[in-house]
Amino acid sequence: MSRYAIVVDLDHCTGCKGCEIACKNENHLRLGEHWNRLMLCGPYGDFPNLSQYYLPFMCQQCENAPCVEVCPTGASYRDPDTNVVLINQDACIGCQLCMSACPYGAREYDEQENVVKKCTLCKHLTDQGEKPFCVSVCSVQCRYYGDLDDPESDASKALAAKPDAVHTLFDEGNKPATAYLLSEKYCEWHDTPQGHDTNDNNALASFANPA
Ligand code: SF4
Ligand code: SF4
Ligand code: SF4
Repeated sequence: MSRYAIVVDLDHCTGCKGCEIACKNENHLRLGEHWNRLMLCGPYGDFPNLSQYYLPFMCQQCENAPCVEVCPTGASYRDPDTNVVLINQDACIGCQLCMSACPYGAREYDEQENVVKKCTLCKHLTDQGEKPFCVSVCSVQCRYYGDLDDPESDASKALAAKPDAVHTLFDEGNKPATAYLLSEKYCEWHDTPQGHDTNDNNALASFANPA
């Protein structure tokens, strides 16, 4: 079985937004649409001992994906070859049940087309043997892509290199496959981070269902 996902090493992420912008360009997203958002988490601690980190987040490629379970038409599905969760736009009726089911707010409604969209893990590129665009363009190369069930993949090697720093977002039984590396010496990890969406400094973290 394959489990393709992205691993982000937050020890090195500078919060440059390169991945967010790259995703918008590569996938021709409209103004205001984001499949990869950057959140500034924190500050945590007490002054003067404050710390914070950047969290780029997209579809977390859940192993028990609630978005697939609730979809009434089968438009949300799991690719049989890669196990990647995808949306068949032709079968989507825009009911948005999947958006309500996703714990992370990783899906967006396209009002003009009356369909729901999200990160595709750049299927159009990975089908050609290339890396997802956000992985290719990261200025500090802190994003890793690959099959988590293949110990030789870039993503698996990144996880193996820092076993004490591996984290996922909060898990409601959906088992997110996407993983983050954050070492304690930089900042304490928070499964349910509090912070600001960097697209709107006045907006609290836009997870749909924060604990
Ligand atoms: S491009 Fe890389 S360094 Fe920049 S915000 Fe994204 S993950 Fe972080
Ligand atoms: S993060 Fe949301 S959209 Fe992605 S697989 Fe999980 S539930 Fe579905
Ligand atoms: S993998 Fe592709 S679609 Fe997903 S966040 Fe990265 S650039 Fe966007």
